[in-house]
Amino acid sequence: MSDRDNRWLNKKPGTKAVWSGETEPFFQGATQVPVVHSVTYAYKDVDEWFDVAIGRKEGHIYSRNTNPTVHVFEEKVRILENADAATSFATGMAAISNTLFTLLSPNQRVVSIKDTYGGTSKMFLEFLPRFGINVQLCDTTDHEALENEIKKGCRLLYLESPTNPTLKVMDLRRLIKAAHQIGAIVVVDNTFATPVNQKPLQLGADIVVHSATKFLGGHSDAMGGVVCGNKELVEQIFHFREINGATLDAMSAYLLSRGIKTLELRVQRQNDNAIELARFLQAHSKVEDVFYPGLESHPNHLIAKSQMSGFGGVLAFSLKGGFEKVKLMLNKLEFVHLAASLGSVGTLVGPPKVTSHVETSEEERKQLGIPEGLIRCSVGIENFEDLKANFELALSTL
Ligand code: PLP
Repeated sequence: MSDRDNRWLNKKPGTKAVWSGETEPFFQGATQVPVVHSVTYAYKDVDEWFDVAIGRKEGHIYSRNTNPTVHVFEEKVRILENADAATSFATGMAAISNTLFTLLSPNQRVVSIKDTYGGTSKMFLEFLPRFGINVQLCDTTDHEALENEIKKGCRLLYLESPTNPTLKVMDLRRLIKAAHQIGAIVVVDNTFATPVNQKPLQLGADIVVHSATKFLGGHSDAMGGVVCGNKELVEQIFHFREINGATLDAMSAYLLSRGIKTLELRVQRQNDNAIELARFLQAHSKVEDVFYPGLESHPNHLIAKSQMSGFGGVLAFSLKGGFEKVKLMLNKLEFVHLAASLGSVGTLVGPPKVTSHVETSEEERKQLGIPEGLIRCSVGIENFEDLKANFELALSTL
């Protein structure tokens, strides 16, 4: 972060989320961020217009490139992640695909893991190879295999931690170090953890990507994506985005900015609810296994503890009796959405067999360690006693 960011140095996420991007007065003294729907911006004379156009003066020209409401949201994520620069996108996938297509060229190599988010995995397996980019996906927790592939040479290491849907945790410090030893760029998807629980840039990553649709916005009412980190790289990604047009719109930026103000409160509550629910499920006779990095029994618990300050609001659990029991239980749960996505204030559940891994065969799911009876649960901010009672009742009917 630069000198102009010194004011944020000792501030906590709650303060940063509320105030960053909002310290200057808005139009006519408005205290809340105006939603600027204007597509274009007029100047009083050509000299001023020219100064803005060449970057000598701050301002906006055309909303596909930059927009005042969108800028406020970018500032909030930038300050929360302690980044030098940030730029935003229409969705998380736009952020990820713009990052990959900006930073990779034909004949270059990217190393990543098998457990990335489904859309990212499709980029690796279906789209990047068509442009002559070599993709090497490793077993997610086999760090030795990852280090060996990195050592063979790559332009980019792409990581995600914790992963979807079985909450595997990667040793970010170790893998980032290995990538930097050979001069590779490291990109980390921090969607599941959020900057409240994990700061990949502080662990050495060059770029952090987010689906802002999830915890950052926090209410499942707006889509968006963000890329932040190294200024030079973010500027390259921004340049590609302003041309291909995957721009975040002002109304979504407003909703995301309003949502992100409560990020710390929400995530702390979701951390608390998730660990309590994970412990309750782990002790239940109808439950086969629980996947949550906050549990001491989680195989990567110690790594998670060393790089995360909270373990997040997503957990997964499998039922004894497989998918038939999943259907029975989910039909009995009250006060939850049976839906895709995650990170909202309301608890949301879904079986990966129906959601993220619906296009994966049973054999492939087995190889990824996804049991047929798995339920992924994005825990909301409800009162925990109510949440527990809800799950207890549904499990008692099995
Ligand atoms: N990254 C992760 C970890 C996700 O879970 C998702 C969506 O579920 C994405 C990226 C893509 O985000 P979006 O749906 O906003 O495009």
